[in-house]
Amino acid sequence: LTQRLEQIFTNLRRRGKLTEQDVDAVMREVRLALLEADVHYSVVKDFVSRVRERAVGAEVSRALNPAQQVIKIVHEELIKTLGEPQWLNLTGPKPRALMLVGLQGSGKTTAAAKLARLLRSQGERVLLVAADPYRPAAVKQLQTLGEKVGVPVYYEEKVAPPLLCAKAYEHAQKGGYSVIIMDTAGRSQLDDALMAELKAITDKVSPADILLVVDSMIGQEALHVAQGFRQAVNLTGLIMTKMDGDSRGGAAISIRSVTGVPIKFLGTGEGIDALEVYDPSRLASRILGMGDVIGLIEKAQQAYDEKTAREQAEKMMSGRFTLEDFANQLRQVKKLGPLAQILEMLPGQLGQAAKMVDPKDAERQLKMTEAIINSMTREERLNPDILNASRRRRIARGSGTDVQDVNRLIKQFREAQKLFKTFQKTGGRGLPNLFG
Ligand code: GDP
Ligand code: MG
Repeated sequence: LTQRLEQIFTNLRRRGKLTEQDVDAVMREVRLALLEADVHYSVVKDFVSRVRERAVGAEVSRALNPAQQVIKIVHEELIKTLGEPQWLNLTGPKPRALMLVGLQGSGKTTAAAKLARLLRSQGERVLLVAADPYRPAAVKQLQTLGEKVGVPVYYEEKVAPPLLCAKAYEHAQKGGYSVIIMDTAGRSQLDDALMAELKAITDKVSPADILLVVDSMIGQEALHVAQGFRQAVNLTGLIMTKMDGDSRGGAAISIRSVTGVPIKFLGTGEGIDALEVYDPSRLASRILGMGDVIGLIEKAQQAYDEKTAREQAEKMMSGRFTLEDFANQLRQVKKLGPLAQILEMLPGQLGQAAKMVDPKDAERQLKMTEAIINSMTREERLNPDILNASRRRRIARGSGTDVQDVNRLIKQFREAQKLFKTFQKTGGRGLPNLFG
């Protein structure tokens, strides 16, 4: 796939806005990639049309070629679709009860032990509960794993799971445990008796989290399974297992976008430490199967940003800082997000001072400045000396501002330029206060 994409990349070296052809050429590959990754057909369709809408007409960054730009948008949208990471619901009265549900063989017992190990390492006092009494081997399996991770396992023979879980919860309360993890039974397929039992457990012990464990190898079927469990119990999270196999785990997107259940963990092996906390960017790359391509895009973007920043710094030092550069910087600032957020990120006193500025004012100021600079010709930006009265009037009209605003901007710019020159003469001592 990467090879085919590279072909498209080399065929499409052109600047400007993304055309329908640019987008469609890449989206064909993306569509295949998602289907190959087991993303449900209907989810792929929605996703592709959403991305297409956003991508056609979008500006191509100077760091990237059009195909790379499309992939970048795809990756970003995929991350959005996969959703923000959400941690387990561990705040509130102790002990917190976590419940694992899923089909037989999906990896519940293994995941229970992995979670026990993780939470224990975070200082929780964990109790595992063997609530799958139908297969004697299942209890033994959990006990063995519990021993491995150093977490006790609660079990009573001949007690039905709902009562067993209630007793385990009481035991945990008395024993000062902070978390209990209930490993429930599964069936080979969705089944009413199983669902009724899960519901009965949640009636006895209201779990803080009900995590659906899904084997990523079952592919498209995963969505159907998730919908079945969701009808019975209130799922609060998803664990996709066997992500170390061939599957790219696209079912996670289907489940997330159709049911809204957040992805929480990925199982990446049989070992008890093979549990990854869900990370949207990493999972998106994996599902697309274009890890290298995305890595390349990020590198290209970074290298370009660094190069521009370095060039601008050099220009500033030499006093050759023009209005063109000023406009470029404004664009960079805008890329970072709303100005209010940036101001708040400033350290120490600057940040304090920034809080006193009304962000709306600052935002308006920034927009006005940008409009004025955009209304100048390139020549004017490079050489503001030619800005006579009639040019200034034209610029004010073009940017919907007053001549005074234009004059003020030019004055500010001159002062900044002077400061840079002083800075250069003092050899770097007395750094001008750029934010003043
Ligand atoms: P349960 O029936 O849902 O409790 O499933 P188990 O926890 O018993 O797991 C079923 C099988 O899948 C076992 O052989 C596990 O070792 C294996 N397994 C579970 N999670 C993973 C995983 O993330 N990767 C791999 N490769 N195997 C796993
Ligand atoms: Mg089991």
